[in-house]
Amino acid sequence: MPTYIVLLGPPGVGKGTQARILSEETGLAHVSSGDLFRENLKNQTELGNLAKSFMDKGELVPDDVTISMIKDRVSRPDCKAGAILDGFPRTPAQADALDVMLKDFSGIVNAVPYITAAENILVERASGRWTCRAQGHIYHEKFNPPKQAGVCDLDGSEVYQREDDKVETVTKRIRVYIEQTMPLVDYYRKAGKLIEIDGTQAVEDVTKALLRALKNSNA
Ligand code: ADP
Ligand code: ADP
Repeated sequence: MPTYIVLLGPPGVGKGTQARILSEETGLAHVSSGDLFRENLKNQTELGNLAKSFMDKGELVPDDVTISMIKDRVSRPDCKAGAILDGFPRTPAQADALDVMLKDFSGIVNAVPYITAAENILVERASGRWTCRAQGHIYHEKFNPPKQAGVCDLDGSEVYQREDDKVETVTKRIRVYIEQTMPLVDYYRKAGKLIEIDGTQAVEDVTKALLRALKNSNA
């Protein structure tokens, strides 16, 4: 049976950073809804153009297009063994749709690590984030700067500040998260799948806590 892990947590808490590491450690595909939208933006696809206005405002892209984008992604061969879902689901309707689509692969959501940190830490992390143009590798101006300023260590492409990582938009995204995504915490807690992880620790320690928690949950 394939394994699906949903990484839950507010904007800036470290989901993308951890998802990349966990993907290497477990061999499961990393599926990031934000990365998929940004790829579509870069390629100026119809989906990208539609998503742009919502992303720029820090609002969620409508459920129907988001769900069909993820369905397409998890159907690809590299997700055969399962996936680490980063940034999806973000609404109760998306969570329901995920349960339905995973049935097609005889899978379920196996575990939901929920990474948390106080709002001031989220704003500090997200507003100092630098993202690599080519593949979305993640840096931080203070906590994890690239070796050469402005250049990705891993692929040499430019690193840039996301338009939606300006402080005002980050604050808006945190509000949207509280209103629309927080209900999922209860949903997965009631299902016995939620594992709380302290996101204020150093990157390596968050990874250790995640790996320990996943081992204990048999995911
Ligand atoms: P998310 O995907 O949850 O929005 P990211 O993984 O992109 O979060 O991380 C947000 C920012 O915080 C990035 O700049 C990243 O380098 C930094 N970061 C991630 N985890 C930590 C950590 N444990 N300590 C300090 N900075 C971190
Ligand atoms: P972060 O890493 O800070 O949590 P993301 O990269 O996941 O941010 O998301 C950036 C933007 O992409 C969101 O503000 C939203 O507009 C859009 N987005 C990403 N995932 C979803 C989703 N599951 N549902 C709706 N919109 C989404």
